Amino acid sequence: MKSIEARALCKNYGTAQVLQNVDFTIQKGELFTILGPSGSGKTTLLSLMAGLAEPSSGQILFDDKDVTHIPPAGRDVGLVFQSYALFPNMNVFENIAFPLSIRKVPKAEIESRVASALDMVRLKGVTDRRTNQLSGGQQQRVALARALVFQPGIVLLDEPLGALDRQLREHMQVELKELQRALGVTMVLVTHDQEEALSLSDRLLLIDKGRVQ
Ligand code: ADP
Ligand code: MG
Repeated sequence: MKSIEARALCKNYGTAQVLQNVDFTIQKGELFTILGPSGSGKTTLLSLMAGLAEPSSGQILFDDKDVTHIPPAGRDVGLVFQSYALFPNMNVFENIAFPLSIRKVPKAEIESRVASALDMVRLKGVTDRRTNQLSGGQQQRVALARALVFQPGIVLLDEPLGALDRQLREHMQVELKELQRALGVTMVLVTHDQEEALSLSDRLLLIDKGRVQ
């Protein structure tokens, strides 16, 4: 688990100021939510933490180390997107093994770590299936397993439960929190759902029009 600090983050696209002077600190092992309406800058903020985009100015620190210009692979961050973003040409096992394969983890270790990641998200018996043969809830579990399988210090989730129906969403909220507690990982969850933010988080950041409220 790692701490995260944002210092005076600004992000402009052309003349549009999408993030303006955003400051916050997230403690190690915290479940931290970024709450705001659509278009408020949540995904942009998460992208800066993941290294998928660079800020126009300001800094991001993990455990007091400046990571602002470090690419995603060097950041020790697991990512879960709103739209699952699973690889449709790979089966469940291959999807979850992917972060380990690109890190050149030995095959036997990949097998045992994928098995324990599947166990973690309570998904068994579907390893050979293509991801488009899974339900929304199962796909979301695969995405979560893939984000956790390389044991990152930080997990970033962008509206991960948005595509699920209400009952499954509430069930997954409980599971997500239990998993976060069990692993002790620092988890940053983006949502526009106030109820979800309040029921899940240790602390939350409210943003609107690119500014911390
Ligand atoms: P949220 O995730 O809260 O819905 P986003 O971070 O996706 O908000 O977007 C915030 C604002 O930044 C929106 O007005 C959006 O149109 C704009 N924006 C996001 N990405 C880009 C981009 N690559 N180029 C130009 N504008 C962008
Ligand atoms: Mg978004």
